[in-house]
Amino acid sequence: MTELASTDLAFNNIIDGKLVAASDGATIDVLSPSNGQVFASISRSSQLDVDKAVKSARRAFESGTWGKLTALERGRLLMKLGEKILENHEELAQLEALDTGKPMTQARADITAAARYFEFYGSAADKVHGETIPYVDGYTVAVVPEPYGVTGHVIPWNYPAQMFGRTLAPALAMGNATVLKPAEEACLTPVKLSELALEAGFPPGAINVVTGYGHEAGAALSEHPDIDFISFTGSPDVGTIIQCAAAKNHIGCVLELGGKSPQIVFADADLEQALPVITNAIIQNAGQTCSAGSRLLVQQDIFEQVKTKLVARFSELRMGSHEMDLHCGPLISAKQQQRVKSFVDQAVASGLPLLAQAQLSPDAPVDGFYQPAALFGPVPRDHILAREEVFGPVLVMIPFADEADAIELANDTDFGLAAGVWTKDGARQIRVANAVRGGQVFINNYGAGAGIELPFGGVKKSGHGREKGFAALHEFSTTKTIVINHG
Ligand code: NAP
Ligand code: MG
Repeated sequence: MTELASTDLAFNNIIDGKLVAASDGATIDVLSPSNGQVFASISRSSQLDVDKAVKSARRAFESGTWGKLTALERGRLLMKLGEKILENHEELAQLEALDTGKPMTQARADITAAARYFEFYGSAADKVHGETIPYVDGYTVAVVPEPYGVTGHVIPWNYPAQMFGRTLAPALAMGNATVLKPAEEACLTPVKLSELALEAGFPPGAINVVTGYGHEAGAALSEHPDIDFISFTGSPDVGTIIQCAAAKNHIGCVLELGGKSPQIVFADADLEQALPVITNAIIQNAGQTCSAGSRLLVQQDIFEQVKTKLVARFSELRMGSHEMDLHCGPLISAKQQQRVKSFVDQAVASGLPLLAQAQLSPDAPVDGFYQPAALFGPVPRDHILAREEVFGPVLVMIPFADEADAIELANDTDFGLAAGVWTKDGARQIRVANAVRGGQVFINNYGAGAGIELPFGGVKKSGHGREKGFAALHEFSTTKTIVINHG
């Protein structure tokens, strides 16, 4: 990869294997969340650019260059991209940290995960097999998995490099040609990763990237009549818009829309094991994680004990720029910081106990979008802070009486993405895991960010469909039933 030079900070679209500006030359400034300064620009794509990208994907899918490759050949290309990501690991991590504000350690872990997506799905590409069905005498029936064709992908700003891998790798492994619209606030690594894909040998049109605003490029992609499937990660409101657009074109979609995931701590839990994990699950990426463990449900017998220990932990948290690599970086934008701040201010104004907050390092740049991690509790169950996704480093503590109460409380939410259960009681582990509504349940751990192998997705307002694991290969493909009468 060409090293990122300070004179070379205009990021282009990638359409049909070429780096191109928006048709009308329009651009959008890119800010560093750590200091609020403009340091680059991206293309502001229009409907025309999106149309070119979809046409390119269609050509790649229909032609021999991509559409006729064998699963083994596709898999090798994905593996090669995984290798290239690892070869360029540090440059990509620096770019990810600069663009999103996340601490370097987190950015490095994200790039490793992005590579892992291509390794996992590269080696899985030729392992998705069909089946035969015993049918009427004289007939053979084959059920064959097939790609949809052209898939559209709209991703958010919180984990751009990881999301690139999560949504594109399984779609490509199954043979789809793709068009990606990353979030306008963080799309530099998706552009660079697509350039690496070209270097790895992906043919023109297999991966197209159009940057720009959601209501322009995003809407043009999701409404385009020639896409065959769409994958979206982001807010429930935009998820509704995407789903309406998909319905109008009679295509399917996978939606991953965030959560208000519970961490349930029973009185017999090993707190030494649990509390560092619980803290990390809300401060990781400054709480801007769809599966953040943002509701801490604690059995009332140990509520005060847990509170005291967490107050100590939160008071020690430090916040600074991505380069300072502390517990938390800034939030993604001034808008997001204001959003989280207003949740905190309103909670304090309503009388909620603000138990502890992280400290901003005195060395942090002055104009960054910093919002300290905050611990509140006890929080009434119907308080807005206990119900809405804040998407920032805010943890609410809510007491519960017994197992039945814990389950009721865990499920008393519009969302259903992930859950953590902390108890040494084996039978209770299974009962609670079965009773909690959500896509992932972690017993005595909380590892939602990791685990490319693990199917991931939600129920209720958290969305539907599954990404990650082998489930994503089924999500990004359809089946054809072939019935042969051979007598
Ligand atoms: P968002 O608006 O849903 O953005 C997600 C993606 O959708 C971005 O690429 C966005 O583009 C695009 N988009 C926006 N409007 C669109 C439209 N009409 N048609 C097609 N695509 C469109 O999320 P946000 O505004 O960045 O964040 C708002 C809240 O969403 C957060 O506070 C958080 O609660 C939630 N969120 C959840 C996740 C998650 O992982 N589940 C991730 C991010 C945010 P642009 O951003 O370029 O406009
Ligand atoms: Mg947005």
